[in-house]
Amino acid sequence: MDFAKVILKPKKEESLQRFHPWVFSGAIQKIAGSPKEGDIVDVYTCNGEYCATGHYQIGSIAVRIFTFEKTEPGKSFWTEKLRRAYEMRRAIGLAESSDTDAYRLIHGEGDFMPGLGIDIYNKTAVMQAHSVGMHNIRQELAEGLIEVFGGKLENVYYKSESTLPFKANIDTEDGYLIGKDDKNYIATENGLKFQADWLKGQKTGFFIDQRENRALLEKYAKGRSVLNMFCYTGGFSFYALRGGAKEVHSVDSSAKAIELTKKNVELNFADCQNHEAYAVDAFKYLDDMQDRYDLIILDPPAFAKHRDVLRNALQGYKKLNAKAFEKIKPGGILFTFSCSQAVSKEQFRLAVFSAAAISGRNVKILHQLTQPADHPVSIYHPEGEYLKGLVLYVE
Ligand code: SAH
Repeated sequence: MDFAKVILKPKKEESLQRFHPWVFSGAIQKIAGSPKEGDIVDVYTCNGEYCATGHYQIGSIAVRIFTFEKTEPGKSFWTEKLRRAYEMRRAIGLAESSDTDAYRLIHGEGDFMPGLGIDIYNKTAVMQAHSVGMHNIRQELAEGLIEVFGGKLENVYYKSESTLPFKANIDTEDGYLIGKDDKNYIATENGLKFQADWLKGQKTGFFIDQRENRALLEKYAKGRSVLNMFCYTGGFSFYALRGGAKEVHSVDSSAKAIELTKKNVELNFADCQNHEAYAVDAFKYLDDMQDRYDLIILDPPAFAKHRDVLRNALQGYKKLNAKAFEKIKPGGILFTFSCSQAVSKEQFRLAVFSAAAISGRNVKILHQLTQPADHPVSIYHPEGEYLKGLVLYVE
């Protein structure tokens, strides 16, 4: 099949030669053919040499590359990519693990499938398309998943209403591509249980990307008074409880999140007496609270979804962290995060540094955290590192 040809301006092939998977619209000299958003296109240098193949898209990223070899991507091509991703998760002990059945199988560019995310919850895969190209092949991908997992996967839920580019004007509905709702949303992470509500929950139902950071928190929880701010489904809270925390308070502005947190704590620790959860705004809670906590987690939503709001986002991180530094007990530990892709590691660190300086306290960095291994970063696409965290000891 002949795909439309995207011809680059002189020298604009250099990033592709380094396997970077994006072609920006400004790098294009002309397009031979008239591709629609989501169509497959081949990318050529201005001298007519083949560079790469990807999905065409309207916007600043014009092509999302999924291969640097001339191929005709059909079902077996996609299934092979899924198989490699599965192999990696098996190699790192996640797929087929006995105490964790929730993990990320496809992490966009990190798995050389830009525009696609797939999370596994036991027998159900939850698929999110961020590009029309991936949306168009959703059924093939779903069938590929079933093939790769053998009998271990039964359902594939498609959840892209809120992730597809709204300008593409795609009329899509969330629903099962394969299988059905098994009404059994209980997944397991490091032996702890949680209800993953992919139908109504945020992202694919659970923040899988904090798994390793939660496990680290568990180690520091013993005997401490813990505040889990922006708790969502309470992930950090039930690790802290298992770690032997004296008390755990979970806070989120969403009443639904608080309800889920309570349910998840109950699932793991029946009749738990040292956990409380409050539906309150973070800034209000931090202003009003006493200095009773010696372990605080700050895991806010992405303050900067786009580069143009970066300044405000950095101010937001500074303000939030300043409140924690002001109130945390001497000898306290702060786990602080940013999941904004637009905020770099250095910028986040600078915001937290400024907040620490305002408090005037001695602060030591214990750990520098990132996303877990099932959210890999392609070495050719450093932008894929989005989760940043610091663990700080506050004297
Ligand atoms: N730490 C969680 C994920 C946090 S997601 C986990 O491990 O799963 C961010 C959460 O922040 C969401 O649940 C959202 O409801 C909450 N949130 C957003 N704005 C808030 C605010 N101003 N005050 C308190 N919570 C807020």
